[in-house]
Amino acid sequence: SSTGSVVLPDEEAMVAFGQVIADASDAHGVIFLLGDLGMGKTTLSRGILRGCGHQGSVKSPTYTLVEPYAIGDKQVYHFDLYRLSDPEELEFLGIRDYFDEQALCLVEWPDKGRGILPQADLLLSIELEGQGRKLHWTAQTELGQAMADKLET
Ligand code: ADP
Ligand code: MG
Repeated sequence: SSTGSVVLPDEEAMVAFGQVIADASDAHGVIFLLGDLGMGKTTLSRGILRGCGHQGSVKSPTYTLVEPYAIGDKQVYHFDLYRLSDPEELEFLGIRDYFDEQALCLVEWPDKGRGILPQADLLLSIELEGQGRKLHWTAQTELGQAMADKLET
C-alpha cells in the first residue's frame, strides 16, 4: 500500500522508528514532515539521522533553515522552513543543488517553500495519540513507494 501508519507512544519509539525510515530510504529521496509545533518532527528527523549513521547531536535548523550532514558517503539535509517568509529565499540558499544530489532531504514545514521545493517522495504526518503520537505515511513517487513497502509491519 502507498499509505500506512504506526503509533509511537514515546520519544524513544519515535527515534527508533526514524531508524526504520532511514533504512527504508537508503539515504536517498525527499521526505516532508508535517504536523503542528511540538508534534515531534525534529525528534523523528534525529532518529532518521541516527539511522543514517550520524552520531553527534542534531540541532533544530530553525534559524539556519537548513543543516547539512555528511555521514560517510551519505549526504543528508535537514530543513526547517518555519521562519521562511518567502519561498523565493530558498533560491538564495542554493537549495536546488541539494535536491539534485543523490541526497536525503528531510523538510519540516514544507508548505513554506511551496512552488520552489520539489515534490516529496514520502509524506510523514504526525498527530497526537493519547500521550504519544500517530505517524502516517503516504508515498508520492516510485521511490517513495519503495520506502513505504519497507515500512509495512
Ligand atoms: P517539532 O519538531 O514537531 O516541533 P519536536 O521534535 O521538537 O517537535 O518534539 C516536541 C516534543 O515532543 C519533545 O518534547 C519530544 O520529546 C516530544 N515527542 C516526540 N515524539 C514523541 C512521541 N512519539 N510521543 C510523545 N512525545 C514525543
Ligand atoms: Mg522542529
